[in-house]
Amino acid sequence: MTVRYHDRSEWQTTAEPVNGGSLYTPQTITQGVVHWPGGGRLPSSPAAVPAWLRDVQHDYLTSRGYSIGYNEAVCFGERWELRGFDFRCAANSPQNLQSFAVLMVLAGPASPADLEAARTAFADASARSRRPLKVIGHRDIEPTACPGDGAYAQLTAGLFDPMYQPPTPTPTPGDPMDTARLIRFRGFINVFLIGAGTPLHATGELVASWRNDDVPAMLIDAHAELMMQCAAAVSPAFTFTPGGSETDF
Ligand SMILES: [Zn+2]
Repeated sequence: MTVRYHDRSEWQTTAEPVNGGSLYTPQTITQGVVHWPGGGRLPSSPAAVPAWLRDVQHDYLTSRGYSIGYNEAVCFGERWELRGFDFRCAANSPQNLQSFAVLMVLAGPASPADLEAARTAFADASARSRRPLKVIGHRDIEPTACPGDGAYAQLTAGLFDPMYQPPTPTPTPGDPMDTARLIRFRGFINVFLIGAGTPLHATGELVASWRNDDVPAMLIDAHAELMMQCAAAVSPAFTFTPGGSETDF
């Protein structure tokens, strides 16, 4: 799923453009911070988002004297550039220097599309800073209800984390094993995993624990032989091409 990213030019006015006192410094960013508007009228449709953002920006400028404080907004599953990667956020005092702030335009839990958009935003910020960012809520920095109990519960469950993977459904006993995949570890040219379902993310720790537990590994020639024997047992018409379904990672 591709998340749409809206440039500031799509919503800001020339009279009240987003500006910031300090430039964004990716090298100092260590955390992503989730916010909410905390009440008030929210946009009723995607088409209403630009005007809503203009109102918030106007409100910031007139009541606080500076531009909207967040780096991005997420609304209806789309990302909107606010301060972006140009200006330091002003929403997480006293931790602005290390924070990339995302305003979730919501009043409760985030929708799956909003969560996906937020994860993409934090992943981008993480890539620019060349480190995984810790994703926290505004309330973790200072006493505030922000970003609301619904979104905060999702946050503590890891749903805003760029590395979040939806749980793999547990196979029901007796289900046919209709998807087989071969997993080849980087650095282990001849060693494969045989399995069904989605590929595992084989972290260094996981591979080390497999080794530690003597999880058997099989050389590719022996594996090909085994697959051909299995295929022949299932159906003489089935042919297996070694290397034909490798997933390299
Ligand atoms: Zn906040």
